[in-house]
Amino acid sequence: MIPYGRQDISAEDIDAVAQVLRSDWLTQGQAGPRFEQAMADYCGARSAAAVSNATAALHIACLALDLGPGDTLWTVPNTFVASANCALYCGASVDFVDIDPRTYNMSVAALSERLAQASARGKLPKIVVPVHFAGQSCEMTEIRALGDRYGFRVIEDASHAVGGDYLGRKIGSGHLSDVVVFSFHPVKIITTGEGGMTLANDPKLAERLAYLRTHGIVRPVWSDPADARYSNEDRYGPWMYEQIELGLNYRMTDIQAALGASQLGRLDAFVARRRELAARYDALLAKLPVTCPWQHPDTNSAWHLYVIRLRRNEMTLTRRQVFEALRAAGIGVNVHYIPVHTQPYYQRLGFSIGMFPEAESYYQDAITLPLFSKMTDSEQDAVVAALTKILS
Ligand SMILES: *Cc1c(COP(=O)(O)O)cnc(C)c1O
Repeated sequence: MIPYGRQDISAEDIDAVAQVLRSDWLTQGQAGPRFEQAMADYCGARSAAAVSNATAALHIACLALDLGPGDTLWTVPNTFVASANCALYCGASVDFVDIDPRTYNMSVAALSERLAQASARGKLPKIVVPVHFAGQSCEMTEIRALGDRYGFRVIEDASHAVGGDYLGRKIGSGHLSDVVVFSFHPVKIITTGEGGMTLANDPKLAERLAYLRTHGIVRPVWSDPADARYSNEDRYGPWMYEQIELGLNYRMTDIQAALGASQLGRLDAFVARRRELAARYDALLAKLPVTCPWQHPDTNSAWHLYVIRLRRNEMTLTRRQVFEALRAAGIGVNVHYIPVHTQPYYQRLGFSIGMFPEAESYYQDAITLPLFSKMTDSEQDAVVAALTKILS
């Protein structure tokens, strides 16, 4: 079976992990801060906080932006459930904005229209979470401008997009959002086993993200004796730590961070190979009755996923039949995503099928083809040959 995604682990990656295992610090040593600094430098962001997974990153990003009961977060239906669940963890509510039929990302037109309506009703979202689907950036300039106009904060769910660019800058620079989130799950572009990260430029926000992932605990700042919190002699003790908020234990281990830093060294090569494979798919699939991914000129995707849409008016087969035939031929295809609002849990919250027609219609035709940096040309040729045979 050719999988839809697979990690790429080198001997250097294994050495980096083994070095941590032989050291004194399996967690909370220097590997975490080193990985964070390397990623912040790579993206051009001021700071980064490594966490246990991207779901945790989304959760603390919402907490750090003060999302709570009575507030609303908006995201897209075409995403993994975690992009929406983060609001519910904070006691806030979720709503969705339909997708653009070309990019499958949040539609700026739909967002703009919903904001005008929400503003009239006094029900504006506190946070909007655009998801850079398949590795292609959302239209962040427009989303940021709407954020400035309507006063919402922006968390980029860039779980698919580490290594991608938008308007010539790395995704993760965060210059058009408040927080950017990455995932390092093994199917994503670089991996730490499980893992995630928040990146932020505002120093106060960055500091808050850093302590929210470790119980809300900080070390007192000894250099500021004027701080009223430290008037008691005991508080100067070197043992001192202070819990200043209710945080969580969402730390990443040094074992994982060492793997992440080592993987980061090959990120550009991974993305280059993914771009090469995507261009090759575009060429090889050109004559088939499928729609290949459209790319917005402002973006340069990291190509986490290569999703085709079946032009079903040009064929007699259903998506399910094509999918099952590909699986039977040893091609590990997948589907991204079942629209979140159609999940049973979300239907119990009041959402129903029919509410977000673009995401639903996209979902009915979509198939994710295998794409990973180690994929060979001949593996890719086998995918194309299988699909060609099924569709002819
Ligand atoms: C993978 C993914 C997540 C969750 O990542 P984890 O690291 O597995 O928690 C969130 N959002 C999107 C869009 C994802 O693809």
